[in-house]
Amino acid sequence: MKRIKVELAAHSYEVRVGAGLLERVGLWLKELGFSGRAVIITDTTVNALYTGVLERGLDIAEFSVTVIEVPPGEEQKSLETAADLYGKLIAAYTERTTPVLALGGGVIGDLAGFVAATYMRGVPLIQVPTTLLAQVDSSIGGKTAVDYGGLKNVIGSFYQPILVVADIEALKTLPKVELSNGLAEVVKSAVIRSRSFFEFLGINLLKARDFHMKVLEVIVAETARIKAEIVEKDEKETGLRGILNYGHTIGHAIEAASDYQLKHGQAVAIGMMAAAKISSRMGLLDESEVVALEEVLVRAGLPTRMPDIDKEAVLQAMQHDKKVLQDKLRFVLLKSIGSALISDDVEPALVEEVIVGWG
Ligand code: ADP
Ligand code: ZN
Repeated sequence: MKRIKVELAAHSYEVRVGAGLLERVGLWLKELGFSGRAVIITDTTVNALYTGVLERGLDIAEFSVTVIEVPPGEEQKSLETAADLYGKLIAAYTERTTPVLALGGGVIGDLAGFVAATYMRGVPLIQVPTTLLAQVDSSIGGKTAVDYGGLKNVIGSFYQPILVVADIEALKTLPKVELSNGLAEVVKSAVIRSRSFFEFLGINLLKARDFHMKVLEVIVAETARIKAEIVEKDEKETGLRGILNYGHTIGHAIEAASDYQLKHGQAVAIGMMAAAKISSRMGLLDESEVVALEEVLVRAGLPTRMPDIDKEAVLQAMQHDKKVLQDKLRFVLLKSIGSALISDDVEPALVEEVIVGWG
């Protein structure tokens, strides 16, 4: 097992990464001083697969467990579902000291995190991510939210968990497309922060896609470490944390313009390619590095070309998403593989050129 510390003064916590960890969560909670009740919030799919083993460990540690299940899917990230969950927490006699375990992918992490952040002004939250995307990205750093009025993550708060447990074993049941979806954030982390990790990915991504447990453990732990380091320096995203949005400005726009037919990771992969092209056109990044990025994304099983969608819609969606600063756009750009910067100096015309003039 690998342990990564997220140092945030009064609310520091650990990310534990390894195979077969679900069973151990109960004893860890006991060690952290909890006893009595515990609540698991999960979705139907994950419930059928993993609640049993998590619950067994909690039973051994003498917790009395309530399982709350919601259907899978982004639609559950709503105020309605949150309200329903508050009701169920009240019905289960949940107290302010009762830990809430978010068992599932990013949807469950965001939703259960939001509920834990707001129920009784905040109850202890344990993130137990079961998708690669959630293990390397959304479960770490304390972002919680629901969607509202057609806008993603528009109601939420920063609320740090007290523990994150990433059981690599749980990834075995993940569809390959979901694994690739998570690999987009992995490649992103390498590209903005670590050339040596990027090189490791070039060599090992195919093994990862074959669910090689040791490789996946290294990948999850290293990506978590990079995220932890960035979040420690800028918890509330006033500066540095912004580099985690590499590929996301155009990525979010593509995701929205595709009516969410493209998965987040696929859209971000294309967004990363676009941002690399922009970096190269601005004379920041060597063209050979753009090619290297493309190769690694292909190995991750991700798209690297603009899909057949309305490019005007992509540009429109970007206007929505981004703060326009005196006609310039804010972008995360690359100086080289492993080194990113935030620029307020990107000409909209260049962005348009890259998006429109790219097959
Ligand atoms: P993310 O935002 O992390 O991609 P979601 O919460 O939308 O994830 O989950 C994606 C889908 O994968 C959901 O249908 C969920 O039920 C399912 N899922 C989550 N974890 C696993 C797993 N370990 N094995 C199989 N399916 C899973
Ligand atoms: Zn992302």
